[in-house]
Amino acid sequence: MYDTIVVGAGVAGAVIAGELARRGGEKVLVIERRKHIAGNCYDEYDEYGIMVHVYGPHIFHTSIERVREYFSEYTDWYDFGHEVHANVYGKIINVPFNLNTLHAVYDEEKAARLEDKLVKEYGFDSRIPILTMKENPDEEIREVAEYVYENIFLKYTMKQWGKKPEEIDSSVTARVPVVISRDNRYFGDKYQGMPLAGFTAMFEKILDHENIHVQTGIDAKEVLEFKDDKIYYEGELFEGKVIYTGLTDELFDYEYGHLPYRSLRFKFEHHKKESYQGCSVVNYTVDEDYTRITEFKYLTGQVNTPETTIVKEYPESYTGSNTPYYSINNEENDGMFAKYKAKADRYKGLYLLGRLAEYKYYNIDAIADRSLKLADELLKEEVH
Ligand code: FAD
Ligand code: UDP
Repeated sequence: MYDTIVVGAGVAGAVIAGELARRGGEKVLVIERRKHIAGNCYDEYDEYGIMVHVYGPHIFHTSIERVREYFSEYTDWYDFGHEVHANVYGKIINVPFNLNTLHAVYDEEKAARLEDKLVKEYGFDSRIPILTMKENPDEEIREVAEYVYENIFLKYTMKQWGKKPEEIDSSVTARVPVVISRDNRYFGDKYQGMPLAGFTAMFEKILDHENIHVQTGIDAKEVLEFKDDKIYYEGELFEGKVIYTGLTDELFDYEYGHLPYRSLRFKFEHHKKESYQGCSVVNYTVDEDYTRITEFKYLTGQVNTPETTIVKEYPESYTGSNTPYYSINNEENDGMFAKYKAKADRYKGLYLLGRLAEYKYYNIDAIADRSLKLADELLKEEVH
């Protein structure tokens, strides 16, 4: 009946299903265990009529032309250069730390001297990971790095990961480098913005095709069985493709152990006033139990509402009964994942795709790019 079964209707699942159906003319079944599509990008109007992101704030940003063009077929954009502030003992500074932040933190003369030094050392418009900057031989540059480390990274990272910046994969803190320019935006990408009608509406359009059948509220395990290198759908041998975007350790009943994740608890609050913090995101980098507060109206552009909804993010361990959000990539965990991947490779037609399935810290654009490329490969194979 179906050429392909896709497990999960998040970014990875929706993009691959849409491509196989449209470009390949395939009949695709999408099985999603949540009651809705769009995965962690899911957004909806809350009871006060304010658009909220149920699984934390999501901003689209990319420098990949193909990805920008691809999503633009399914949505118009609210052009939005996301800026983040940090609350450092009540003082508000810009994150990432940039030349404007430098001038906010140091007196005029010192800031001018440091700016000269930083531009000479790294070049204007460069982006330096904090752990790299901390190793600079120049004492004054190290002093800036120390300020940034202590006031922006150390306590936030302890909250988010339960570990110090040097104890986690260096690519994680490198996502928020020190920026040697006056660009206050959080991301350095060419395109930044929000789908005008929201992420869910965009993914609805991607999945809206006569060849795609979406079933929500069903766990793949209810209908799919993976046994002795063969896949069964509703008890019958299935010889089509299965694109799996869920947890790979769960797929194989934790045979090699549980892959560790970090989770988050979201606390939504509605406030009967026009504005709570006057901007989209404030990071709490030195105190509080939560890492950041998002005020949705400034993220989505829905600014003309008389009241406001915010969310606070409390990091916690993944226990199996909360949601796995972030893979914890290190040698040991990546080694465990490699065993699961080798096992998955034994199943003809099974492909692991996505943040969970590949145990990888993908942004929306990176996983969309990967999904488009997998579709290219699969469709090429079929032609030959
Ligand atoms: P998911 O969105 O997790 O989708 C996987 C889907 O598979 C889920 O819906 C799940 O229910 C379903 N599933 C799993 N197992 C089964 C099963 N057995 N049966 C049926 N269904 C199953 N990226 C950005 O680019 N910009 C941002 O601003 C940004 N902010 C983020 C903020 C937070 C708090 C988090 C956690 C992530 C953020 N991301 C952001 C990353 C973004 O969420 C991911 O890139 C994206 O969601 C990955 O899509 P995915 O399809 O791989 O996974
Ligand atoms: N980070 C930090 N302080 C900040 C912002 C980020 O210490 O104010 C660190 C923290 O370790 C975080 C990582 O940088 O996990 C990546 O931040 P990003 O905002 O990309 O995280 P995400 O939005 O994916 O949760």
